[in-house]
Amino acid sequence: MAELFYDDDADLSIIQSKKVAIIGYGSQGHAHALNLRDSGVDVTVGLRPGSSSRAKAEEAGLKVADIPDAVAQADVVMILAPDQHQRKLYAEQIAPNLKPDAALFFAHGFNIRFGYIKPGEGHDIAMVAPKGPGHTVRREFLDGRGVPVIVAVEQDASGQAWPLALSYAKAIGGLRAAGIKTTFTEETETDLFGEQAVLCGGVSQLIEYGFETLTEAGYQPEIAYFEVLHEMKLIVDLIWEGGITKQRWSISDTAEYGDYVSGPRVIDPRVKENMKAVLADIQSGAFAERFIADQDAGAPEFKELRKKGESHPIEATGRELRKLFAWRNSRDADYVEGSAA
Ligand code: NDP
Ligand code: MG
Ligand code: MG
Repeated sequence: MAELFYDDDADLSIIQSKKVAIIGYGSQGHAHALNLRDSGVDVTVGLRPGSSSRAKAEEAGLKVADIPDAVAQADVVMILAPDQHQRKLYAEQIAPNLKPDAALFFAHGFNIRFGYIKPGEGHDIAMVAPKGPGHTVRREFLDGRGVPVIVAVEQDASGQAWPLALSYAKAIGGLRAAGIKTTFTEETETDLFGEQAVLCGGVSQLIEYGFETLTEAGYQPEIAYFEVLHEMKLIVDLIWEGGITKQRWSISDTAEYGDYVSGPRVIDPRVKENMKAVLADIQSGAFAERFIADQDAGAPEFKELRKKGESHPIEATGRELRKLFAWRNSRDADYVEGSAA
């Protein structure tokens, strides 16, 4: 059984006695900075000159500094810029300004696991990774709850890296839900696999194939959209609440029988073989290398794939339909539909 941590397992005063620099003010950055601040922690947000996030952070009442200055005064530096930019950011702006005994924190193990960042021996290296998007991390905290976090220590230079990491996890609200002990290697490899094979890659492809199959057979796209996309959330909510069994309890017997006989026809054992190949590419570093090489070249493949994804016919159908929905979710004020490309 995995080792779990809750609020009682952590001492908030540890992180309250440190100066924390949060590098980046995006999805995770804003949530960590604001939750820490509200937990009585001394936070400075480090941003690059001309950052579009600066005004937002200042408006929220946070201290904001250029990255080198934020790093230089900090006992704990949490790097919350996109993974593909962390290597350069670390080499050019963080490492030269880091206090010799400052702790380095991450919310994903990518750069440590694949060796893009190699901190010196004097630094604690820890991870506090919320298992949810940053906007949920902030929303749950404000509602008195938390998003579960996973916690890891890669390098315990001070001998105090664990209490420090748990104190940080408590301050962002994660231990109200639960902290689960892991390692940088386990977190990185399972996180990449989960998002590629199941949560993002798998689900998106499944929805698109379902939509294509129905519309190519002559059914209306609006009806297909409801059957293969809209209802996904309702099904996933049930799975999340009570496992696959609760979902099967709630659906009709017709749907449940179809699930048993047709699920394994669609997702057949070849899919598992494909998943193993994806996992092998993650473990070997081949995925990381391909991602970083493309990013270093200005992300031509990434941009092309994003454009292709956005131009799938189900996206146009969905955009039109969602305009008509009274319950349309507009809570994430900084997300503008159709603006991703
Ligand atoms: P975002 O893309 O939301 O980060 C954007 C922020 O990073 C902005 O403030 C931006 O500044 C800054 N930034 C971007 N590029 C640079 C750069 N080259 N140098 C300095 N600052 C830069 O990141 P996420 O919050 O999605 O991810 C942060 C980390 O958290 C990653 O390690 C990710 O894997 C992890 N994570 C993310 C989750 C999520 O919910 N998204 C979930 C769990 C973990 P500017 O305003 O100047 O553009
Ligand atoms: Mg991830
Ligand atoms: Mg139906």
